[in-house]
Amino acid sequence: MFDSLSDRLNGALKGLRGKGRLTDADIDATCREIRLALLEADVALPVVREFIKQIKVRAKGAEVHGALNPAQQVIKIVNEELVGILGGETRRLSLAKNPPTVIMLAGLQGSGKTTLAGKLAKYLKAQGHAPMLVACDLQRPGAVTQLQIVGEKAGVNVFAPHPGTSIGGGANPLGITASDPVNVARDGVAEARTKQYDVVIVDTAGRLGIDEELMEQAANIRDAVQPDETLFVLDAMVGQDAVSTANAFAEGVGFTGVVLTKLDGDARGGAALSVREVTGRPIMFASTGEKLEDFDVFHPDRMASRILGMGDLLSLIEQAEQVFDAQEAEATAQKIGSGELTLEDFLDQLMAIRKMGPIANLMGMLPGAGQMKDALDQVDEKQLDRIQAIIRGMTPAERANPKIINASRRLRIANGSGVKVSDVNQLVDRFFEARKMMSAMAGRMGLPGSQRRRT
Ligand code: GDP
Repeated sequence: MFDSLSDRLNGALKGLRGKGRLTDADIDATCREIRLALLEADVALPVVREFIKQIKVRAKGAEVHGALNPAQQVIKIVNEELVGILGGETRRLSLAKNPPTVIMLAGLQGSGKTTLAGKLAKYLKAQGHAPMLVACDLQRPGAVTQLQIVGEKAGVNVFAPHPGTSIGGGANPLGITASDPVNVARDGVAEARTKQYDVVIVDTAGRLGIDEELMEQAANIRDAVQPDETLFVLDAMVGQDAVSTANAFAEGVGFTGVVLTKLDGDARGGAALSVREVTGRPIMFASTGEKLEDFDVFHPDRMASRILGMGDLLSLIEQAEQVFDAQEAEATAQKIGSGELTLEDFLDQLMAIRKMGPIANLMGMLPGAGQMKDALDQVDEKQLDRIQAIIRGMTPAERANPKIINASRRLRIANGSGVKVSDVNQLVDRFFEARKMMSAMAGRMGLPGSQRRRT
């Protein structure tokens, strides 16, 4: 799914890594590559234009955040804009106050409506709903039977126009003629109300292309059943046509949400990504295969980070931002440079890192961390717990000036924090060593505060 787009975007952003400062020329060059990547993936031109414009403005603006390096800042901006294009917030189904909720499916033939009907039914059933399917695709030969098979797989009833053919006893008492999908839809909803189904999913006919008759029929069904949600089903593999098809359905029938299907294909798929921006309607579900379970709620944020293909680097960036306090970091750097770091500071740092989650998880979020599994397994959370307990067992004076921690204090701390005296000794010794080393390093790197020591 979006593999080549991912590769191209990654390539574009890779050039920024390791740069301490980004010039406008760096940003322009990166934006050119991002633009090409999007166009090549079939993302609609106006969408690409707006996207690039936003990235440029934001990346060149003063959105400097101390926790992130310039490359991370651009990645963050690209990610946020991508989430925006994909709709921002996850949009859930809105259910009717007075059941049944009516969900109508519309789209071209072969887009995956019938399959989706089964997927949605299964999904809703798992959430405790009692869904019913209504077969209004009376055009395509075998469509009714296909819906019945899908209904059976999902374990839900199907209201179908041919007497005696509905699954699980959902009879069709009216003997409706096969030529009247509008009546089938209306009667299906009436049946659902009588039999206390709380969601009705209406499968409608599609055509190979857009035509007036198709739109009229869909609009008539819509008027007859007054759907709470009309979902436009879009095959992500159709390429550039996706946008014009979406526009035609938006005009002809109107819809409240989009379902992207066949995202498992290797097509470029970018056109489908433009559909939210072009129609203003949210993408609500994604379908990724022929089986009923190949289906999920569409989360713009997850999809964006998947497209960016950066593992969970993005959540790492987010977490780093949350715990980062620029002033505090500056003060700590000063202390490191001047060799004045205290155990209190050390504890603060440890807590800040641990706030971001267990160390192993944190490292697991970095791309490529899979190969470091052995190393990750050795990160000893218990050891960190012990360090934290020991420092907590010290008085503020001891934390501020570890030099005063003599033998009797060590014994008291050990007893108070439930460790051995040797553990306390080890921590204090290591702390002094680390402080000396860090200060020397800071001096070599010319970090703030280190001047004072050298003069
Ligand atoms: P309809 O004409 O809109 O009702 O489309 P169908 O539900 O009959 O789907 C058309 C074809 O696409 C069928 O062969 C489905 O199995 C297949 N299909 C539907 N959704 C997906 C999907 O997400 N991935 C893949 N690979 N195939 C799908």
